[in-house]
Amino acid sequence: MNKIEQLKEIVEKSNNIVFFGGAGVSTESGIPDFRSSNGIFSKSYNRNIMPEEIVSHTYFENYPEDFFDFYVNKMIFKNAKPNAAHIAISRLEKEGKIKAVVTQNIDGLHQMAGSKNVYELHGSIYRNYCEKCGRFYSLDDMLERFYKDKVPKCDCGGTIKPDVVLYEEPLPNDTITGAINFIAHADTLIIGGTSLVVYPAAGFISYFRGKNLVVINMSETAADRNADLVINQKIGEVFEQIK
Ligand code: NAD
Repeated sequence: MNKIEQLKEIVEKSNNIVFFGGAGVSTESGIPDFRSSNGIFSKSYNRNIMPEEIVSHTYFENYPEDFFDFYVNKMIFKNAKPNAAHIAISRLEKEGKIKAVVTQNIDGLHQMAGSKNVYELHGSIYRNYCEKCGRFYSLDDMLERFYKDKVPKCDCGGTIKPDVVLYEEPLPNDTITGAINFIAHADTLIIGGTSLVVYPAAGFISYFRGKNLVVINMSETAADRNADLVINQKIGEVFEQIK
């Protein structure tokens, strides 16, 4: 039996699947990941600062103009559309197979594909709040103010901060609890498109106690050695075959 057939059989026999994913799930939608050879982290940005440093809380506080320049130009892909992986994952949720999607992505593509129970560990580009008065801004409203002033400002004078988890910032508690709860009770965990090096998110997979651990990733991950099935192919192409 080839690997795709093995995956099909696992999906067929499972009724409580959790999908845990990262930036690699969206590369086939045209959004670069961080750590592939042509990912965002492969190029130093300006003044030899690594992108990892730019998307940190310290950088956001100290150099907001540079932060927003990088964030808007390198991390927001408004025209990206869900690919075959997002679409298949949403379909498997409708069929009652997938119970939750736990994602490190901030691009909203799982919801755009129709997934309902999505735990966004690192937030979403679609939510933005004034740091001072808490007013909500949509992505378009935030962008309008960014293009006007370089650092988007609320009417009250506060900076509008994207609701994304920057390096050095904690993950939202209710999201952590919900995600771990689903992972801990799943019969199958499918890990896909993630280098599994960003913590604490990557640590959540250790709560899995179920039967089948599947990894679908272009490159090697730390989860491979415990996995029942490892597929080193593009995740969209893999899910396209899981009909
Ligand atoms: P990462 O960049 O560290 O790793 C991506 C992994 O996906 C790599 O191991 C790569 O080999 C694999 N990959 C790339 N394309 C693939 C494909 N088509 N099929 C299968 N595998 C593929 O990403 P990460 O582990 O998610 O961690 C990076 C952090 O970056 C996350 O915290 C996330 O918040 C953020 N991020 C998000 C987006 C997004 O929202 N789309 C984009 C870039 C970064």
